[in-house]
Amino acid sequence: MDSFNYKEGKLFAEDVSIDQIAQKVGTPAYIYSKATILDHFNKIKNSYAELNTIICYSVKACGNINILKILAENGSGFDIVSGGELFRAQKAKGDMKKVVYAGVGKTDEEIIAALKAGIGYFNIESEAELENLIALAEKTGKQTKAALRVNPDVDPQTHTFITTGKKETKFGVDIERAQSIFEQYAGKSKFVNLCAIHVHLGSGGKTIAPYCQAVEKILPLIDSLREKGFTIEALDLGGGYGADYQSDTVPSAAQYAEGIVPLLKDKDLTLILEPGKSIIANAGILLTKVLYLKQSGKKKFVIVDAGMNDLIRPPLYDAFHFIWPAKVDEKYANVKRTEEIGLKGLESVDVVGPICEASDFFAKDRAIPPVNRNDLLAIFTAGAYGFTMASNYNARPTPPEVLVDGKNFKVIRKRQTYEDMITLEK
Ligand SMILES: *Cc1c(COP(=O)(O)O)cnc(C)c1O
Repeated sequence: MDSFNYKEGKLFAEDVSIDQIAQKVGTPAYIYSKATILDHFNKIKNSYAELNTIICYSVKACGNINILKILAENGSGFDIVSGGELFRAQKAKGDMKKVVYAGVGKTDEEIIAALKAGIGYFNIESEAELENLIALAEKTGKQTKAALRVNPDVDPQTHTFITTGKKETKFGVDIERAQSIFEQYAGKSKFVNLCAIHVHLGSGGKTIAPYCQAVEKILPLIDSLREKGFTIEALDLGGGYGADYQSDTVPSAAQYAEGIVPLLKDKDLTLILEPGKSIIANAGILLTKVLYLKQSGKKKFVIVDAGMNDLIRPPLYDAFHFIWPAKVDEKYANVKRTEEIGLKGLESVDVVGPICEASDFFAKDRAIPPVNRNDLLAIFTAGAYGFTMASNYNARPTPPEVLVDGKNFKVIRKRQTYEDMITLEK
């Protein structure tokens, strides 16, 4: 679900009108719904209730401390990929035992900080990294647990840039090599207990099949390792569960669970999940204002005040974001996001930003209701990999982030000022 709906032709986030937020904070602005975040989190939690499950929200999807706090208060752990994300998780008072740390290039400083914080698992990507973790754990006298990231060679059939579980990516090790790594390292260090398997297929898989295939490939590995006397206490299935960018085109949390839970029942494994976009993508929109309309030959451009520095997913991943005015004729309100094409009276436009790059676009040849200068447009499903990928390119300050909770909203990150942008240059 999401909590962005039209009432009498006006877009609301929960019970707050988008127009009201725009008047208070200006545009462009990210707006998140607390109810949607918790709805998604609780649906995942309930779907896997039969298993001993730890949900580790993926901080890189959207790392605002206020959002992390809400999730931590509701029992979420965190999937982190850097020292900066560890810092954010700590600031949000996250339970460090529920933190898993992935990434192919962890620095010594980052590893030491995570050892001192007492995180749950280091997700190990190579022998060299494991050896370094062991050395640093001995040096600091800190004990920890590790999961080996295994590449099940399953194709989630998504964009190549976000495919990470195939053999020829830089992530993880293949199943055969996993066996030898356990034989070489597991049970040998007093400080690092290699006792779990991590898998992450990549993002945006639109079916449950790759996840089931991955589990079916990993279970024999776990059996074989256990037969050799190794302890395997947890399986971390990573993230990448689909978020609904269009309209009911991805499985729900319950549908993923229907495939995965039966495979893991009675396996005596703690299941770890690392959802990012399936929690936060639909919980956020990027609100922008129409600056100009421009006709060029047959094309009509809608030039808006948000740019690729605010939301880079369309040029980076060729990502689809539904875009609709914040105020529309009632007949255009609450259309299903894939039905819009059939509606009468729409115009086909390119929605583009002000940045000096041809790749600065949000949608091409897209049907939207007619808009005018100063109208507000909502770019939906922008909660994940939206603000976290924002930059100051073209010396544009990053937009504010606003959190809506029922009838109330608050700014959870201010709009950057010009002064903010240069403070480190002084
Ligand atoms: C990015 C990432 C995730 C989250 O992916 P989503 O598609 O946002 O669910 C989870 N685990 C790891 C290791 C990641 O790199």
